[in-house]
Amino acid sequence: MAHLSLRVRCLAGVVGPSLLLGAAAGWSRHPVGLVAAAVGSLALGALFVGRLSQRIGSATEAARRLGQGDLSATMPVEGSTDLRALARALNSVGAASARRDDQLNHALENAANQRDRFHSILNASNDGLLLYDADRHLVAVNQRCGELLGFSVHELLSGNVGVLQRSLEQRSEEPEAYRDRLERHFARPLEPHQDLLVLSAPRRRVIRRYSCPVVNQRGLQGRVFTYTDVTTESDIDRLKSEFVSMTSHELRTPLTSVHGALQLALSGSGDRLAEEDRELLEISLANTERLVRLVNDLLDLSKIEAGRMPFCLAPMALAPLLDEAVRVIQGLAATRGVQVRLDVAPDLGGVSGDHDHLLRVLTNLLGNAIKYSPPGSVVVLEARPTPEGAVVAVLDQGPGIPHDQVDRLFRPFSRLGVHERQTSGGTGLGLAISRALIEQHGGRIWFERTPAGGSQFAFVLPSPSATHKAGSDLAVA
Ligand code: ADP
Repeated sequence: MAHLSLRVRCLAGVVGPSLLLGAAAGWSRHPVGLVAAAVGSLALGALFVGRLSQRIGSATEAARRLGQGDLSATMPVEGSTDLRALARALNSVGAASARRDDQLNHALENAANQRDRFHSILNASNDGLLLYDADRHLVAVNQRCGELLGFSVHELLSGNVGVLQRSLEQRSEEPEAYRDRLERHFARPLEPHQDLLVLSAPRRRVIRRYSCPVVNQRGLQGRVFTYTDVTTESDIDRLKSEFVSMTSHELRTPLTSVHGALQLALSGSGDRLAEEDRELLEISLANTERLVRLVNDLLDLSKIEAGRMPFCLAPMALAPLLDEAVRVIQGLAATRGVQVRLDVAPDLGGVSGDHDHLLRVLTNLLGNAIKYSPPGSVVVLEARPTPEGAVVAVLDQGPGIPHDQVDRLFRPFSRLGVHERQTSGGTGLGLAISRALIEQHGGRIWFERTPAGGSQFAFVLPSPSATHKAGSDLAVA
């Protein structure tokens, strides 16, 4: 209808001026001339309208094809100035869209190539890899991860997270602690975390689970988990621990009797011993005591690491325990001329802990701080609450730890050899035992240099709320 009215208006626009022109030329005085002029005008108008309508039709068709995505559609550049301008505009829209289409296809092809490369790298890894986005939704996983956790990749990516999680919980060697341990990976989103996952089915596997944040310029994007099968290493480690434990046990009995005999010989000898013999016996006694301490520490460490050390976890206030530790260590501090200061935040809450084990950690850290501090210096024991839990730190004004030795500080026998003179009584196991004890409490222990260059050994004991965060049902493993 619109097309028809356009045609009529165009016809009127052409015929009207033609008639006027004929009239002006004086043909109106002859009826035949008038009719001829009218017929001529009509024919001319019809021809013009036909051409115009055809061009508008081809413009409409080209626009329709472009709209449907056919970017090859064009309109011939011809006719009036307006029509030519319209054709050029329409054709350039088509050309620009075709260019953009090419760019888009290229970008999509690139993205597909990158995705394929990403998946090939993921699947080439001998470690299981699993990636969460910032909302803790599973976004990528490789085949090895499926193998290690006993699921197919499809199950992991499309399965019900709750069902997968329950399956892992049931197959884990510590089903009750499973969720808490997993939550610790997410408790400090910007820090890496590592633990061991022991699965009993489809076959027994010990898996080292390591996670670290994925961060770019826009901030935290998610968290990537790496799963490494360490079953063989863990079996060897277990054998080694059993051997150490057995030998230490066997050594302890004869050592205790040698120690007793030496003590007896020294105390019951009166004046009968020559000064030189007494000195030799005293050296033997001191070294036997050191051996007894070493054997006891070795036994304790292997028991803690094997999870065979009895733990009596109970809710307890921390402040009285810190007080007690300072009292226990006061004798050593006085001998060395070091002052021990206690600095406890008034709002320090309680923890769930084993009194004796925590006292052992505290006296070990305080003892080290005193041993390595110069006379006249101050050792500070401070404690404060943090969102992660109660943080306890021992700061000293001693020589600190050289940069390159910090990594092996908590390993057994990591006596660093830099302060040998002051530490002749140490076994090199104190920090390893402290770490094992704190980790059994679900905490962590670390070293930092104080601004003045001394040492700060700190540990955190998680408050129950820090290990039961909301949203735990979003994570699988
Ligand atoms: P040790 O029985 O030798 O003290 P530890 O495991 O307690 O064993 O400590 C390991 C090593 O760490 C020590 O031999 C010492 O070299 C270093 N160390 C520990 N605490 C401190 C400290 N406060 N200042 C300096 N060095 C320390």
